[in-house]
Amino acid sequence: MSTAINRYTRHYINGQWVESTGAESFESFNPATGQPLSHTRFGSEADADAAVQAAQTAQAALALTTRQERLDMLQRIAASYSKHQAALVDAVQQSLGAPRMLCERLQVPAGLMQVQAWSRVLADFPFEEQRGPHLLLQQPVGVSLCITSWNWPLNGPMGVLLPALAAGCATVWKPSEHASATAVLLAQVMHDAGLPPGAFNMVLGNGHVVGRRLVGDPAVAMVSFTGSVAAGNAIGQASVAQSKRVVLELGGKSPFIVLPDADLPAAVKACMTGLLRNSGQSCNAPARLLVPRERLAEAEAVAAAVANHLVIGDPAEPGTQMGPLGNEMHYQTVQRFIEHGLRDGAHLVAGGTGHPQGLEAGCYARPTVFSRVPDDAFIVQEEAFGPVLVIQDYGDVDEAVELANRSEFGLSAYVVGGAEQARQVARRLQAGMVHINGAEMDLGMPFGGVKHSGLGRKFGPEGLKAYLEPQSILVPAAA
Ligand code: NAD
Repeated sequence: MSTAINRYTRHYINGQWVESTGAESFESFNPATGQPLSHTRFGSEADADAAVQAAQTAQAALALTTRQERLDMLQRIAASYSKHQAALVDAVQQSLGAPRMLCERLQVPAGLMQVQAWSRVLADFPFEEQRGPHLLLQQPVGVSLCITSWNWPLNGPMGVLLPALAAGCATVWKPSEHASATAVLLAQVMHDAGLPPGAFNMVLGNGHVVGRRLVGDPAVAMVSFTGSVAAGNAIGQASVAQSKRVVLELGGKSPFIVLPDADLPAAVKACMTGLLRNSGQSCNAPARLLVPRERLAEAEAVAAAVANHLVIGDPAEPGTQMGPLGNEMHYQTVQRFIEHGLRDGAHLVAGGTGHPQGLEAGCYARPTVFSRVPDDAFIVQEEAFGPVLVIQDYGDVDEAVELANRSEFGLSAYVVGGAEQARQVARRLQAGMVHINGAEMDLGMPFGGVKHSGLGRKFGPEGLKAYLEPQSILVPAAA
C-alpha cells in the first residue's frame, strides 16, 4: 500500500504558520515499511531568529498573566488536544512505529495527563511567600527554549512546554528532526487553543543550524534540553557561557534490582515489559537486570522466554506488542551495539543482530538479552536505547547496590522485593527516581538524572521552578 508523502514546510511563529526559508530538507521513512513518509524543510537561522523575536515580544504580557489565566490556557490546550487525539494516534504510530495499543493507551493520552498534572501544580504553587517583612516572588525566567527528542514525541514536549507556559514564559520549541509529523500537529493543537501570538513558537530544523542558533540567541533566558549526553553537554556549555538557565534531561542505563526475596519470574517479566514497551526507546527503560547469583540461570530462562514469544510486527495490528525502532539510522546504531556485545564475548541469551524473521523491510530489531559479561563492558555501561537487556548477577545486596551505582548514568532505578528492604536499597541508589515494586511514573514527582543523566528536574513543583526566578523584595522592618 503506498501512502501520500506529507510535506512539512512551515514553522509556527507569532500565532501563524509561516513558510520555511531554509535550504536544507529531510526525508522520513515509515519505520514499519521503509516507505517514504514525509519531507521536512528545515528552518534557517533567520527563521530561528524570527521565532525568538516573536517570543520576546510576547514575553512582557505573558509574565503579567494571572494564575487563573494560565490555568484557563492549559484547559484550552487540553480541549484542543482532545479534538486532535485521533490524528495524533495515527501520527505517532506511523512516524515512530509505536504499536497502536501503546499510542492509544499511553503515547497520546500522556499529553493530556501532562496538562492535568501541570494544572494541579499551577493551582497550588506558591508564587509569593512572606518572609518576615520581606516578600519572595517567583518570577517567570523569560523566553524559554525547548529542544526535544523523538522517542516520546508528545509526552516529552508537553512535559516541558506546559510548565514554561504555566510559569508565564513564552516558548520556542525545536522538535526532533525525526518527529515532524507529531510536532506540526502539536503546534496546531496550540494554535487552536488560542494562545496569545508569540507565546508558543515552533521551528522545524536540525540541531547544528537551527538548534545551535536558538541556544546562542541572547534573548533566550532558559534552555530545556532533552536528548543525548553529547548534545546536552554542548548545549549546557553554550548556555552557561551566556548565563542562561539550563535543564538537561539526558540518557540512562537504569538498573532493575531483583532482591533475594522477590518473586523472580514475575520481576524479570516486569523488567522486560518495561524495557520493551517502546522498543527500548525510553530514557528510563530498565536496561540492566540485577539478580541473585544463584538464580542467574532462572532469570536468563524467563527473560529468553519473554524475548522469544514477544509479538513483534506491524504497529497497526491490534495484537502487536513491539513495533520497529524509530528510524533506520537508529536501527543501525542498535545493531552496532549488539555486535559490540557479541565481540566482547557476552553470553547471548536471546535475540542477536538482524531483523526478526519475516520483518526484513522495516527497522525491526530482535529483542536481545545478554548476560555473563564484565561490569565495565561497553554493553553494560552504554545506553542501547533499544530492546537490549543486560543481566548482571550479584552475591549480596551490598554488591547489587554497588553494581547498580557503577555507572556514569543515574536517571531511574527499579527495586523489587520486600517493601522494607526495597526502601533501604532505594535510598542508597544514585538515581533521580526509584520505582519500588512496580510503582508507575507519577507526574507530580520530580524527574531527572544525577551524574551524566542530566541537570535539574522536570515534573512537579520542582519542574515548574525551572522556569521561575526567585526575586527578593526587601522592605524595612516596621519601626
Ligand atoms: P539527540 O541529542 O540526537 O537530539 C535531541 C534534540 O537535540 C533534537 O531536537 C536535535 O535536533 C537537537 N540537537 C542535537 N544537537 C544539537 C546542538 N548541538 N544544538 C542544539 N540542538 C541540538 O537525541 P535523540 O536521539 O533525539 O534522543 C535520544 C536520547 O535522548 C537518548 O539518550 C535518551 O535517553 C534521551 N532522552 C532523555 C529523556 C529524559 O527525560 N532524560 C527523555 C527522552 C530521551
